[in-house]
Amino acid sequence: MSPSIARLPRPSRRPEFLLILGSGLTVLLIVAIVTILLIREHANALQAAKRTASNITQLIDADVLRNVELYDMSLKGLIAATERSDLQDVSANIRHLVLFDRSAAAPYKGDILLLDKAGEVIADSSLLAPMPGNFADRDYFQTHQQNPDSGLFISRPFMACSVCEDKWRIAFSRRVSASDGRFLGVAVASMRLSYFAQLFNSLNIGSNSTINLINHQGILLAQQPLLEQDMIDKDLSARPNVARILRERNGSFTGISSVDRHPRLYTFSNVGTLPLIVAVALSSDEIFAPWKRAALLISSATGVLCLGLLWLTWMLCMELRRRYRAEGVLSELAATDALTGLANRRTLDQRLRLEWERAQRSNEPLALLMIDVDHFKAFNDRHGHQGGDEALRAVAQVIDSNIRRPADLAARYGGEEFAVILPHTDSSGAGVIAEHIRSSIEYLPRLAADTQPITVSIGLSTWNKRSAASLEELLLSADRALYEAKHGGRNRIVEADSQA
Ligand code: GH3
Ligand code: MG
Ligand code: MG
Repeated sequence: MSPSIARLPRPSRRPEFLLILGSGLTVLLIVAIVTILLIREHANALQAAKRTASNITQLIDADVLRNVELYDMSLKGLIAATERSDLQDVSANIRHLVLFDRSAAAPYKGDILLLDKAGEVIADSSLLAPMPGNFADRDYFQTHQQNPDSGLFISRPFMACSVCEDKWRIAFSRRVSASDGRFLGVAVASMRLSYFAQLFNSLNIGSNSTINLINHQGILLAQQPLLEQDMIDKDLSARPNVARILRERNGSFTGISSVDRHPRLYTFSNVGTLPLIVAVALSSDEIFAPWKRAALLISSATGVLCLGLLWLTWMLCMELRRRYRAEGVLSELAATDALTGLANRRTLDQRLRLEWERAQRSNEPLALLMIDVDHFKAFNDRHGHQGGDEALRAVAQVIDSNIRRPADLAARYGGEEFAVILPHTDSSGAGVIAEHIRSSIEYLPRLAADTQPITVSIGLSTWNKRSAASLEELLLSADRALYEAKHGGRNRIVEADSQA
C-alpha cells in the first residue's frame, strides 16, 4: 500500500463495540432474571414444605390430645369412684364395674391400675382380683407422692415385658388425694407406644423424613420411621436440633441431622398444654428435588440460549470485521490510482479542498507542485506502452518517497501528470522538495540503454496568508508555472509569479 493512501481515515469500530456490549448486557439480564426466578421458586418450595409439615403436626397434635383426654377421663372417673363411700358395701364385681366405668374408649389401652399409698395394686381394670404388684419405684408414683399438684403426669417410656413385640408403654397417671390433701395413692393408665407408630404411619411424609414425639426432657417417645435401633426412651436433649426444639417449643428451622448428617426441615409444635412436642423432620433433598430438576432444566436451557446469543454476536462481529475489511479495500481502491498506487484525481481534489480550507483557517502556507513527464509521447514510442507504464510507476515511486509529512499527498493528476500537496510548507521548502523530485527522476536507471533520461518539469505555486488568491487561482498558477517550465526547456522547476 502506498504511504499516501495509508493516511486515509480508518472505519469506526463503534458498532462492533455496541453489539458486544448489547449482547453482553442481554446475557447478564437473562442470567439475572433466571437467577431471581430460581431463588423465588426455591423459597416457594421451602414455604410449601413448611405448610405441609405444619399441617401434619397440627393433625398429630389434635389426635394425641384427644386420646390423652380419653385417658384422663378414665383416670378422673376412677378417682371419683374411689371417693364414693358406698362402694365398700357392694360386691367386688359391682365395685370393679363402677371403678372402671369410663375407661373403655381409649385405643391402644393397657391396664388401668389403682395403687395405694405404698404403691400396691388395689384395683386392675382387666382383672376382678388384681395381680399382686408394687409400683412404688416408678417415676409417676414418686412424682405424685412428692407433689400434690402434679396433675396429669406422663411417664417416661417403659417396657411392659422384655420379650413381647409390642413392649413399649407410657403411663398417664393422677394422684389420689384425701379431702385434707393426704396422699392416698395413684390412678395410672398405660398406653402402648405402637399407637404413635400407627398414627405416624398413616401420614405419608416421603422418604428420609421422620415424625418424632419427645417430651419436655428430650426423651424420645416415638419416631417413625426409626432412624436408629433402640432409640425409644433415649435422652436426645444434648443434640443441637433437639435442644433448639425444646427451647422454642413451636416453630420451624433447617438443620443438619446429627444422626445421618442430612439437611432436614424441622417443623414442631407443643401438643396442647401437655409436656409433649411433635417434630416433623422433612428431608431437604426430598423437598427440593422437584426444584432441583426444574432448576437444572431451566439453567441448561438458559445456558444454551446465552451461548447461542454469544455465538451469534461473535458471528456478527466476524461478519462486521469482514465487511470493514472489504469496505477498507474498496475505499482504498476508490481512492487509489491503479497503475501507480498513488492517490487518484478524486482523492487529490478532496484533499486539496480540505487542506485549502485548513490553510485559510490556520493561516499556514500551502504549496502545490504540478509535475509533468517530459517528452513522454516519444518515450512511449521508443519503449512501447508497457515501458511507458513502468516508467510512470518509477516516477510515482520517486515522488512518493520524497514527501514525508503525514499531511503531504502525492497523486496522479492524469496521464503522465502528477500533483503534490504540501501543507504547512512555504515556497522555499516546496522548492527543495521539487528539486529533490526532479533530480531523483533524472538519475533514475535508464530503460533498455536509452540515451535520454526520464525528466520532469515542475510548476510550483504557494499560497500564504498575504495572498488573496483562490484555490482555482492556485491551481491555475501552478499549471502556468509548469507550462513555463516546458517552454523554458523542460527538466526544470518554475515557481509561479502569482503567488503572494
Ligand atoms: P511534453 O514534454 O510537452 O509534456 O510532451 P509529451 O509528449 O509528454 O506530452 P503529450 O501531452 O503530447 O503526450 C503525453 C503522452 O503521455 C501521450 C500518452 O501516450 C502518454 N500517456 C498518457 N497516459 C499514459 C499511460 O497511462 N501510460 C503510458 N504508457 N503512456 C501514457
Ligand atoms: Mg502532459
Ligand atoms: Mg509530458
